[in-house]
Amino acid sequence: MNETDLKEIFEKELFRGEIKFDEPMSEHTSLKIGGPVDIMVFPEDPVSLKNVVCAANRENIPVFVFGSGTNLLVGDDGVRGIAVSLKLFRSIETTKESSENHVVLYVGAGVPLAMLVNLARKYGYSGIESLAGIPGCVGGAVYMNAGSYGTEMKDIIVSVAIMNSQGEIIILKEEDLGFSYRESHFPEGSIILSANIMLGKDDPSAVESRTREILSRKKASQPLGESSAGCVFKNPDNDTAGRLIDAAGCKGMRKGGLEVSRVHANYFINSGHATCRDFAHLMEAVKAKVKESSGIELMPEVKIIGNEK
Ligand SMILES: Cc1cc2nc3c(=O)[nH]c(=O)nc-3n(C[C@H](O)[C@H](O)[C@H](O)COP(=O)(O)OP(=O)(O)OC[C@H]3O[C@@H](n4cnc5c(N)ncnc54)[C@H](O)[C@@H]3O)c2cc1C
Repeated sequence: MNETDLKEIFEKELFRGEIKFDEPMSEHTSLKIGGPVDIMVFPEDPVSLKNVVCAANRENIPVFVFGSGTNLLVGDDGVRGIAVSLKLFRSIETTKESSENHVVLYVGAGVPLAMLVNLARKYGYSGIESLAGIPGCVGGAVYMNAGSYGTEMKDIIVSVAIMNSQGEIIILKEEDLGFSYRESHFPEGSIILSANIMLGKDDPSAVESRTREILSRKKASQPLGESSAGCVFKNPDNDTAGRLIDAAGCKGMRKGGLEVSRVHANYFINSGHATCRDFAHLMEAVKAKVKESSGIELMPEVKIIGNEK
C-alpha cells in the first residue's frame, strides 16, 4: 500500500484524532473476533476525516467505516486499508426546528445509542424507548436501520449528513435513503456524519417507565452481557430466525469457541478463542439445519468484513 500521502497527513498535523497501525479488530468488535487492520483512525473533526478520505481516494486505498463493531464479523486475516470510526463525533444539540410538541436533535454519528436513550428518558423525549438495550453508535444504527419492538431508526430520522469519497458533505432526507428491515441505501462510500432525529415530548416519568419495561424484557430474553454480534440472521417474513433455529434443535450447537446461545438461538456466543472461520462454519451448519427442518433459507444480519484465513 502506498502510504506516502497518509504519512504526510499524519506528520503535517492535517489530522486531529487517534491513529493506530496493525490494530486487531478483535479489540473493536463486541464478538471479539477479527485480525489486524493496516491503519485505524478516529478523526476528531470533519476536516481531519476529509483529509484522510481524499488521500485514500487518490492513493486507491480502501476505506472501511465502523462504529462500535457490535454487528460485525471480521475475518481472521483482518482488513487491508484504512478503518475509520467516528466514535469521537459525539455531540448532541437541539435544533431550531423543535416545537412545543416535538424536539429535533442533531446527533453525531459517534454518539452511543444508549446515551441518546438516556438523554430521552431524562428530558421526557418519546419515540426511542424500544431502542433501549441496543449497543453501538448512532452512525451504525442509522446504516443498519437498527430496531426492536416495533420501532426502527427510520421512524425517527429526519435527515442524515454524509461525507462522500470526494470529501464532500451532503444532506440526505429520510425518504431518499431506501430504509427497510435492517437495510439502508446510502450512495456507495458514504460515511454517516450525523443524523437529525425527531422525538415527541412527554412526561419524563412515563418515558422512564416504558424504557425500563423494554430493558427488563430484553434482559430476560437476550444474552446481553456475553460476547456476540447480536442477531446473526434476519427474521424471515412472518416468523423469527430465533424460533426457527430453536425448532431445528440448534441451541447449544458448538464450533470451536462459539456456541449457539441457549438463551436466544439467534445469538452466537464467543466463549473465548473463537475465530471467524468457526463463526462461518457454525452459520452454515445452522442454516442447513433450519433449511432441512423448515424449508426456509436464513439470510445474515451480521455484516461480514475482511479475509478469512
Ligand atoms: C447484545 C446485542 C444486542 C443487539 N440488539 C439489537 C437489536 O435489538 N436490534 C438491532 O437492530 N440490532 C441489535 N444489535 C446489533 C447492533 O448493535 C446494531 O446493528 C447497531 O446499530 C450497530 O451499531 P455499531 O456502531 O456497532 O455498528 P458496526 O457494527 O460498527 O457497523 C455496522 C454496519 O454499519 C456500518 N457503519 C457503522 N458506522 C457507520 C458510519 N458512520 N457511516 C457509514 N456506515 C457505518 C458499518 O460499515 C457496518 O456495515 C445487537 C447487538 C448486540 C451485540
